Amino acid sequence: MIVKSGDPEMAREINRALILNVFRNNETTTRTEIARLLHLSKVTVSNIISDLIEDGYVLEVGEGVSLTKGGRRPILLKLNTLEKFVIGVDLGTTNTVCAVGNLDGSLLKEIRIRTSKNHAIEKIVDQVARLVNETIDESGVSREKIVGLGIAVAGQVEKAAGRIIFSPHFDWHDVYISKLLEDRIGFRTIADNCTRVLSLGEMWFGQGRGVQNLLFIGVGFGVGSALVIDNKIYNHHSEFGHIKITKKRIKCPCGKYGCLEVVASGSSIEKAANSLLHNRDGEWISAKMVAERAYDGDPVALNIFNEVGRYLGRGISILANSLNPDKIVIGGGISLAGSLLMDPILREFKKDVMDVVRERTEVCRSSLGMDAGVRGAVAMALNDCIFDFETVNRHIRSNRIEV
Ligand SMILES: [Zn+2]
Repeated sequence: MIVKSGDPEMAREINRALILNVFRNNETTTRTEIARLLHLSKVTVSNIISDLIEDGYVLEVGEGVSLTKGGRRPILLKLNTLEKFVIGVDLGTTNTVCAVGNLDGSLLKEIRIRTSKNHAIEKIVDQVARLVNETIDESGVSREKIVGLGIAVAGQVEKAAGRIIFSPHFDWHDVYISKLLEDRIGFRTIADNCTRVLSLGEMWFGQGRGVQNLLFIGVGFGVGSALVIDNKIYNHHSEFGHIKITKKRIKCPCGKYGCLEVVASGSSIEKAANSLLHNRDGEWISAKMVAERAYDGDPVALNIFNEVGRYLGRGISILANSLNPDKIVIGGGISLAGSLLMDPILREFKKDVMDVVRERTEVCRSSLGMDAGVRGAVAMALNDCIFDFETVNRHIRSNRIEV
């Protein structure tokens, strides 16, 4: 890589971030290999590696194989997974999950609790702060080693300001959640919309690895989408759940009729199940219980999932025809139902979408399971507090850096 920027300080920052990103993709590497990959001088690489070792980000781990006969054996380097850590929090309306992650994104400790039914912001901040402290204590990691915290929340979030513009599920308006948590916990805090956080988790750890243009569909209590263009999350709020998909006069909480979310979400599954199915004890039938019944062969439960999948497939086809992404990943809590949801989605998608899009766009399910949200939050903390991958990409473009 040739840095043409006139600002040496900025060039060094970018090179440092680029080097850190080499470690993300290679378990071990050497100074020579990094210089070769990034077209940097060995002196530049050695200086930055010295700093990264001193700061606790990188470790020397023995010797590799010499490239020339009788030549010096290069020293192997890897990420230091014992010195720097981040926190991820997935703040859901039902459950809140907190985890401590290390530099390669492995989770050291994870705790899942029921989210307080009292949604007053002070109450939730207090609950999250206590959960974070408990998770850190149980992980055995000392607080000085924690670099930052990422939190995923449902609703419209202005990430740069750490501000929730509106969260319908919590009924929050204009809440500066990052500042509130920073004041309580003391770590730099990054907040973003839960669907965008899930898509980042896919990019770092899941089905989105190495995919440049990704469409992520989150099917949980509601329905959301996030778009990755040229490896960067498109940072605008979208409302995929509120496209008009049916003429049925079903009113959506957004005030309109026939939205995708009223016929194809966790809440619509539960609503349909509780009016069509009967529970022995008269208790509320959850989406998970509907999935279990469908797997047991209950035709009503099966039909509920088929209809949800059909609507989703139809909606996804509209997005796919408009955007023609490389890959579409279906995630969120309801995607845990597996083929029950995926089969009707794929059937409808194949039927509706243009041939040219169907041939090049892969549709698959998230592989991150129950941890997808918290892993995404960990990825966001790593990305924004350490690896700065998105900024690296921006500088590469705006400064005409050649990689
Ligand atoms: Zn709506």
